[in-house]
Amino acid sequence: MRYGVLGWPVAHSRSPAMFAALGLPYQRLPVPPELFAETVTALEAAGFAGANVTIPHKEAALAAADEATPRARAIGAANTLTFADGAIRADNTDAPGLLAALGKPVDGRSALVLGAGGSARAVVWALADAGASEVRIWNRTPERARRLADQLGAVAVDAVAAADVLVNCTAVGLEDPLATFDELPLAPADLARFAVVADLVYQPEGTALLRAASERGCATVDGFEMLVQQGALSYEIWTGRTANLEAMRQAVREVAPT
Ligand code: NAP
Repeated sequence: MRYGVLGWPVAHSRSPAMFAALGLPYQRLPVPPELFAETVTALEAAGFAGANVTIPHKEAALAAADEATPRARAIGAANTLTFADGAIRADNTDAPGLLAALGKPVDGRSALVLGAGGSARAVVWALADAGASEVRIWNRTPERARRLADQLGAVAVDAVAAADVLVNCTAVGLEDPLATFDELPLAPADLARFAVVADLVYQPEGTALLRAASERGCATVDGFEMLVQQGALSYEIWTGRTANLEAMRQAVREVAPT
């Protein structure tokens, strides 16, 4: 059986290297939005048993599914599809992947999420579902933060205050790992107000946000760990086997960006 990652663009994806380390036949599947629905329904006949889904198809993936897990429905997006017996099943492993990457329980902890896009949806839902005492959302476009907060029972904020956990779900740091994070509402010194700082953006050298957090004594979690944890959960859904996390970690860090 074959597996792959559906995206547009998808050339940058490190998932093929990550799943190759587990021995899974896995390939990039570049599909433009207008062809997504018809492509996804044809994949089982083409020999595929599952697919990951990345930008910009996560909402369309949920819409294309015959069945979906409650968490995929609650988040409103799917990143893992399984094809069997002519049906498409959808799940979202970004949410449990974030919790696994954090590595410590978040129940009773406060959290601040930066961003209100697709990944922030899964992260806010995961933190709230895991019992965080309060989840605050800041976003460059405040209206989006307010909408997401209303939908998921969080609180939209215009300025940052101390919290136990900070998760960057914006694209800041994606283009240039050496750039500062001036576009975020945080000075480096403010990072001391968070016990744990996670950045979904992954950069081999680490992002400026994570470097500054580390210098101020915060525990840090990088985007590679989130990528590996969500991928490991997809692998378990598809194969029923436990993934070798160490092999995946090594593979995603070693792969040369394309
Ligand atoms: P998205 O849906 O396009 O959302 C992008 C978010 O970033 C929005 O909140 C946007 O704010 C904000 N943003 C973009 N440029 C900004 C800037 N210059 N200053 C401040 N805010 C800015 O993307 P996404 O799917 O949520 O992904 C966000 C990041 O997470 C990407 O870098 C992606 O690669 C990464 N990611 C990593 C993993 C992983 O496994 N490690 C998984 C998913 C995503 P506006 O609303 O104001 O436009």
